[in-house]
Amino acid sequence: MTTSLSTASLLAPPAERPPVGKFRSGRMAETLPEALAAWRITTPHAEVADSTARLLGGTVRPGRPAGDDAFEVLTDTADVDIVIDAPSAISTELKLWDHRGLAHHCDGSVFLSADDRRGTACGCPATYTERRVLAHDGQGPQVYTSTRFRLANQLTLGTFLHESISWELAEEMSGLRAAVGRAGRPARLRLKLAHAEFVSPTGIRVDRTRPVLEFIAPMAAGWTRLQSNSARLAKEAARATWGAVVRASRHRGAALGSRVQPAVHR
Ligand SMILES: [Zn+2]
Repeated sequence: MTTSLSTASLLAPPAERPPVGKFRSGRMAETLPEALAAWRITTPHAEVADSTARLLGGTVRPGRPAGDDAFEVLTDTADVDIVIDAPSAISTELKLWDHRGLAHHCDGSVFLSADDRRGTACGCPATYTERRVLAHDGQGPQVYTSTRFRLANQLTLGTFLHESISWELAEEMSGLRAAVGRAGRPARLRLKLAHAEFVSPTGIRVDRTRPVLEFIAPMAAGWTRLQSNSARLAKEAARATWGAVVRASRHRGAALGSRVQPAVHR
């Protein structure tokens, strides 16, 4: 069985390059951060803004003129189907800065930098609950989870980035990375903004959203459907074009009083 060029380009993950856009769960409303109920996408590319607005609903607006935020899309959707190409596309790191710079950078058990201590035990507690308490008190590093993904409905658009400081998301990541690893191929997941309301210990009603990633299936299942849909659309397009050619030929043939000859393909 041979693989067509277009199939190969859709299956192969794009080379590591800057993301074409970022998925964000909040924005700055004047000087205060505001949580959103649907995804906001920022991108330096007008065509990426247009495509994501078409795919996910929403409107394209000018963003910050400098940097990576020239356009923003306030989408209408809180759930997006995505494709993760490999477990390494999901990373969870812990970082603490002090007046000297990055003072503690680890994966929860060993240092990830600097060069002189990379790979050695960092001394963080074993559980996320304990790490979270230390971070809250300013005594331990904060968690950062980044996920690089493509949109399942338009794989060729490029790689997007989602970054989060959610401890719940970080705790769920090791299970997800393992599931993507077991899949052994690109996997389809759902990136969601989950809404939660709770009452704080001081009695304040808190309304918040948090990102959730759910594993759906190895890409093969979704890919088969995508392939058959693409093949069906291509066949329909070819049939429609061929029908139009035959009708036009018959029309010309009748006008010239000659018979339609079968086309010869060179
Ligand atoms: Zn650590």
